[in-house]
Amino acid sequence: MNRSTSEKLYQEALLHIVGGVNSPSRSFKAVGGGAPVFMKRASGSNFWDEDGNRYIDYLAAYGPIITGHAHPHITSAIIAAAENGVLYGTPTQLEITLAKMLKEAIPSMDKVRFVNSGTEAVMTTIRVARAFTKRSKIVKFAGCYHGHSDLVLVAAGSGPSTLGIPDSAGVPKSIAQEVITVPFNDLDSLQEALEKWGEDVAAVMVEPIVGNFGMVMPQPGFLEGLCKLTHDNGSLVIYDEVITAFRFHYGSTQTYAGLENHHDITPDLTALGKIIGGGLPIGAYGGRKEVMEQVAPLGPAYQAGTMAGNPASISAGIACLEVLRAEGVYDEMERLANRLADGLQQSADRHGIPLTINRIRGSFSTHFCDHPITNYEEAQDTDGERFASFFRHMLNRGINLAPSKYEAWFLTTAHTDADIDATLEAAEESFSAMAT
Ligand code: PLP
Repeated sequence: MNRSTSEKLYQEALLHIVGGVNSPSRSFKAVGGGAPVFMKRASGSNFWDEDGNRYIDYLAAYGPIITGHAHPHITSAIIAAAENGVLYGTPTQLEITLAKMLKEAIPSMDKVRFVNSGTEAVMTTIRVARAFTKRSKIVKFAGCYHGHSDLVLVAAGSGPSTLGIPDSAGVPKSIAQEVITVPFNDLDSLQEALEKWGEDVAAVMVEPIVGNFGMVMPQPGFLEGLCKLTHDNGSLVIYDEVITAFRFHYGSTQTYAGLENHHDITPDLTALGKIIGGGLPIGAYGGRKEVMEQVAPLGPAYQAGTMAGNPASISAGIACLEVLRAEGVYDEMERLANRLADGLQQSADRHGIPLTINRIRGSFSTHFCDHPITNYEEAQDTDGERFASFFRHMLNRGINLAPSKYEAWFLTTAHTDADIDATLEAAEESFSAMAT
């Protein structure tokens, strides 16, 4: 496959844009380097690059594009919004419509506030939790990604009783000292951390179903135990559902039928993003009324945004949720994901390549290893070089995956059986080439 234009554009981008990319996850650093593909056009489940090559896309822009690229209903909503003026700096009725749709789908959100990204949403939930509890520390889980604000760019210390160390240059050590990191699916470690630091802990923040070190389900009782331990400690539970809300069903983890006992896994605050903007920039957070009333102008916790609730993003979000609300949409994504994941597993098995697939409805992650993936340590202990080789083989056969062994494959409402057939054919050839 000729990608010479992408290579040329990458050299030019390097001169003007730091690292040639506007988000590090888009670079090919984690898969051996080189020029990322410069895409020119997207429609449905397909991408076309600057050299005219076609790809079947499973990146879905890291999650938001759940209805496929350029979905006509969303495109019309964006055009209509643009024709009416893209930014007002005043309240609009559209914001109420989307807020009501979110509240109906996510019952723990009495009140909502729109922001511009998942990062902002998470960052603000932490501020609100601190304002409400008048405490400063947060507990997070190793390998969960919560955006790039200082406080959540902190890696695990050497155990649950140690404070974090910054994961990024530019994050002061003093900030990392406010974060305690414990392993996902490990209630004992959470309990130990709360016993040691509990009086200072404002909130326990979690991706309730993990999307950032592969797709990882909470083990039975984990979320229930997490909520109980946290609430018994007088701290708030924050669910980061930036990836998971509206991903597996029309709602969030707290109402996901795959998890028992919804009543006891209700968070105080939820952060949203990605899908709820239909592909345009958005974030939102919401939760219990008395907690949300900490936020300005009602309360002392300040949060604002020039672009927040802009008509284009809100219109795209409403249109996207309208598409997802239709009967059978999630079942069909699951059917295709199931076919694809089963086929990949069989193909890898045939070639003696160890592969663990974690599938949750219409999305899944592929881990080159022969053990289950239930936490970050296990996800790290997988063959990154093999993933890189698989990634490149698939790309050369017109299959676009995320360039990282930790990222998920996302099915969309635009994928078809023909896409699955073509992807499985590419995978069979890729595994065959890797095995020789
Ligand atoms: N939280 C989770 C779970 C995410 O996966 C991400 C982004 O991938 C974020 C927060 C940050 O969202 P954004 O990139 O919109 O700032």
